[in-house]
Amino acid sequence: MQLLSRGDAGPPVAEVRAALEEMGILEPTGPGPALFDEQLEQAVRIFQQHRGLITDGIVGPATYRALRDARWSLGDRMLLLNTQAPLTGDDVFALQERLLELGYDSGRADGVFGRQTEQALRSFQRDYGMSPDGMCGPRTLRHLGYLGRKVTGGRPGLLREQERLHRAGPRLSGKRIVIDPGHGGADQGVSVGSGADAVTEAGLVGDIARRLEGRMAAAGMEALLSHGPQDCPTDAERAGFANSAGADVVLSLHVDANASPAANGLAAFHFGTGSGATSTVGEALAGFIHRELLARTRMLDCGVHGRPWELLRLTRMPAVRVEIGYLTNDRDRAALLDPGFRDVVAEGILVAVKRLYLLGQDDKPTGTFTWAEVLQREANRPAAAR
Ligand SMILES: [Zn+2]
Repeated sequence: MQLLSRGDAGPPVAEVRAALEEMGILEPTGPGPALFDEQLEQAVRIFQQHRGLITDGIVGPATYRALRDARWSLGDRMLLLNTQAPLTGDDVFALQERLLELGYDSGRADGVFGRQTEQALRSFQRDYGMSPDGMCGPRTLRHLGYLGRKVTGGRPGLLREQERLHRAGPRLSGKRIVIDPGHGGADQGVSVGSGADAVTEAGLVGDIARRLEGRMAAAGMEALLSHGPQDCPTDAERAGFANSAGADVVLSLHVDANASPAANGLAAFHFGTGSGATSTVGEALAGFIHRELLARTRMLDCGVHGRPWELLRLTRMPAVRVEIGYLTNDRDRAALLDPGFRDVVAEGILVAVKRLYLLGQDDKPTGTFTWAEVLQREANRPAAAR
């Protein structure tokens, strides 16, 4: 979709205006051409802040999805599994959160009515003496303790992520980061060459992980590696490690491969289901990492994407997976084999994490914030600002 910002006009702007007016965030203006004016920008910012989105006053895909999801409150419609076109919205999210609160595992609350949500709902219905039909209507809502009160606001889980981020403050010191080097042990991931000349994904990302770990420790952060070089835990085990460590952020490092030697470039991934639900803090962090690395290297832009992969879905904190180039591409491989390049990558990732905690309140252009400046800032800021 096309981004909407101040100065735009037309039907998409009218749709955004109508949604925000309905929520009571924007004063209705009556008939006339729909303009993206200062008032609308302000309303978009308020909405974004409430929803834990990046507060930039611009309507991009994430804000647009959130506006669409926000139309639904629990009780507005019957909720049930539709495998062809799963129901999404704030009502689904509220149901999932309620089921989780009550101890029914509906998976990560993502606002999408999927199979796991249905199963959790059936278990709940069975336990409360209802017929376990997996449909959430008035009777089920009454048992859930929801009937009669309108459930408003949205995405408590993601809002909690955002609130934690705000409370965390701008300092890196004291933050606990789990660095997850992809593969390990018997699984070396992508491998090129053979014998003593073999270059492996596990070897390269293990090295970048250690460089990043060193820089984070120097900045006063607590950096934990998800596993040693001899072990290869499953993605669920890696997520479990991060959860039990109570990490603030998880960074998973990989290198890609392709049958075509021409394929090259950098991609970053955060939790997202493809039908609208996304971890907004994870998306923001993936965006920062992506931009910092692109600005510092000559890698091709392969985008930032939401994926429901286990490591991203099962972690209870923002998690990002980066694919740092293709080992099967000559130029990417040559870059990765240069220790100086791996330092640049580690520095770019660290600066991206710093940007996340600065909450966009930094004016330094992407790619120009140096490691020395990060350390300097950490040293200068009074301890009370923690
Ligand atoms: Zn990998």
